[in-house]
Amino acid sequence: MKLAVSSGKGGTGKSMMAANLAFTLAKIEEVTLVDCDVEEPNLHLFFPAPVTTRDVTVLVPAVNESLCNHCGKCGEFCQYGALTVLPDRVLFFPELCHSCGGCSLVCPKAAIHEEPKRVGTLSTSFPLRGLKLITGTLDTGSPLAVPVIRAAKEEAAHDPVVIFDTAPGTSCPVVEALDGCDACILVTESTPFGLHDLQLAVDVTARLGMPVGVVINRSDGKDEETIRFCTDLDLDIMMTIPFDREIAAIQSRGDILCRVQPEWQKDFHALFCKCQSLAGVER
Ligand code: SF4
Ligand code: SF4
Repeated sequence: MKLAVSSGKGGTGKSMMAANLAFTLAKIEEVTLVDCDVEEPNLHLFFPAPVTTRDVTVLVPAVNESLCNHCGKCGEFCQYGALTVLPDRVLFFPELCHSCGGCSLVCPKAAIHEEPKRVGTLSTSFPLRGLKLITGTLDTGSPLAVPVIRAAKEEAAHDPVVIFDTAPGTSCPVVEALDGCDACILVTESTPFGLHDLQLAVDVTARLGMPVGVVINRSDGKDEETIRFCTDLDLDIMMTIPFDREIAAIQSRGDILCRVQPEWQKDFHALFCKCQSLAGVER
């Protein structure tokens, strides 16, 4: 079972949901939690533990000027403007390169070879019995979130139960994290921004053909607009968490709601069972 926890709007409590789901499930089975919000990973704050870390690299071109005749073919090929061919040298702008490898293929002089370039790291820890946490972290200044997310997902590819905490929004890193998941929880809040961004997120998951359920977080009881939207689209509101001072305090301490208030565990377990039904996964 591969389950994504996502949200159109940032700050809705998506990571809190993922952390509590993982905490609850780890009590009964092996679960892997993957932090795919690689520009701002935060799940390790809920689960401090020693980590092992390795680099994530991509291949970028390196030009051998002694073989190059400055024909310009590589620069014409590169759709990202990462190569500019001058009469006497080739300029490479690594921050624009998407590592497609095409320039080395079109070079008639075999003057381009590929070299690894670090774009981020992958950290793995085992903070609780039954729980593996994989954290992708994008290097500062690197624009390539997708390869780090891909590496984090590959690290968990053979694990039986995986929860992916995506970045907020609907951009490429979110689509990469969602791709291949069996189902998705969309966490929202009943504000105009929350509803607007929920609509965008639902659109993305629909295009991916992914079953979706909704969780309303920080509900003040005035959820009519969100309920109407979900009813119109036949989306199940699988859980509602109230706007509550004590829950906010637990969150702000970096603690887990289900640890401090264990009565929540049955709700999170029920939520996971609903997700399994949504995905058509048998227990
Ligand atoms: S395609 Fe090859 S030979 Fe032509 S400019 Fe680029 S590196 Fe040089
Ligand atoms: S690998 Fe692709 S994106 Fe990078 S410089 Fe070559 S053609 Fe451009």
